[in-house]
Amino acid sequence: MSKPELQSETSRRNALKLLGLGSTAGVFGLFDTSKARAETYETPAYAKGAAPVTIKSVRAITTAPGGSNLVIVKVETSEPGLYGVGCATFTQRALVVVPAINTYLNEFCVGKDVDNIEDMWQSAYVSSYWRNGPVLNNALSGLDQALWDIKGKRANMPVYQLLGGKSRIAVDTYTHASGPTPEAIADKVQQFMEMGFRHVRIQQGGYGGVGAMQELKPDFKTAGYGRETDDFSDQRTYLKRVPKMFDVVRKRCGEDIQLLHDMHELTEPIDAINMIKGLEEYRPYFIEDPFSPENMNWFKQLRQTTAVPIAMGELFNNINEFKEPMANHLFDFIRIHISQIGGITPAMKVARLGEWFNVRTAWHGPGDTSPVGHAANNSIDIAVWNFGIQESQMFSDKVKEVFPGCPTIKNGYYQVSESPGLGIDINEKEAAKYPIGTKSRWTVRKNDGTILKP
Ligand code: MG
Repeated sequence: MSKPELQSETSRRNALKLLGLGSTAGVFGLFDTSKARAETYETPAYAKGAAPVTIKSVRAITTAPGGSNLVIVKVETSEPGLYGVGCATFTQRALVVVPAINTYLNEFCVGKDVDNIEDMWQSAYVSSYWRNGPVLNNALSGLDQALWDIKGKRANMPVYQLLGGKSRIAVDTYTHASGPTPEAIADKVQQFMEMGFRHVRIQQGGYGGVGAMQELKPDFKTAGYGRETDDFSDQRTYLKRVPKMFDVVRKRCGEDIQLLHDMHELTEPIDAINMIKGLEEYRPYFIEDPFSPENMNWFKQLRQTTAVPIAMGELFNNINEFKEPMANHLFDFIRIHISQIGGITPAMKVARLGEWFNVRTAWHGPGDTSPVGHAANNSIDIAVWNFGIQESQMFSDKVKEVFPGCPTIKNGYYQVSESPGLGIDINEKEAAKYPIGTKSRWTVRKNDGTILKP
């Protein structure tokens, strides 16, 4: 033996002595054969004697049965009849996601083992070198959710069981009450309360209040600036209307209903802070998106000014964007459009991070999250400890025909499917009846025509 070999052999023997194993370990070959290592690690026990299930194809299916453009990924496997579905819905640019799936992701995935979801996510994420934006994240989410669906089907368990099992009886949800006046909104809130909802989001005029500002004639329209179809939101009108809406709804509907409101980032940050402070007496469950993602530094002042609970994160692209604000308790609820950040795998990481800081989940779930995406939301909601609330949809019969297994709501709770996988499917023949469109504008202007940033 050379000197270094001797030293290494001596330290190995010392280590064995310390473990109390002495030379018997060598006799039984516990430490020293690469053959033993190969036998132990190369073939997972569950797959012994069977070839791994591999990906045969990854393809996009588009449909719009409820009006919103939806993109679904279907992953077919080497096992006949075994496939998974996932949500890849970037509704505003749906057609751009399709080649990202059919051309790039398909080529990247074919022949790979369906079991290694984490490796697939990590490798696909950096396979374009530059980090993903919304198009590639949505494509990746479709793959990720479909692989969880497949894993659940193989295990003969719903996906939530693979994420840790149930932490609650069902998924508590909120629904939307919008209307032209506070009184009309209060009527709707009362109807939802009668249906069993405990949480309702209230918006006068829907998104940014634009639906209730039609009677105001903005100067940019008179001047012929922008497009005829551009939306208008007047910040002063909005700021005056919201407290009044809360006042009317709270007085009419009582103290028991939880009221939520989404600001859609459309006011100046300092005005947002003042308005939220003024809402304290109405005890909102949360106020969502007070600032654009570019204005994160305003959170500090908001938190020093008021303790109204805040939800944020719908517009974040990358899970790293959640780290600092969560660790610094800048908001209370995590708003994530799960397909927008890349699927169940990254959403679980953000959810678990939230547990450390007592930040609760409130995944994005309007009509432009597909029913497959809602099933993915619910799978996490039922499993994680720090679940907060789930935005919900009541699906039309048309949507249910396209998506057999659509989540259902009972007494304000989403009922989580007990079928293996995500418990939802897509009927491609029905889906083809509802082609998606290319029209997708997101243009809201001030009185003088200046663009308002969401
Ligand atoms: Mg929102």
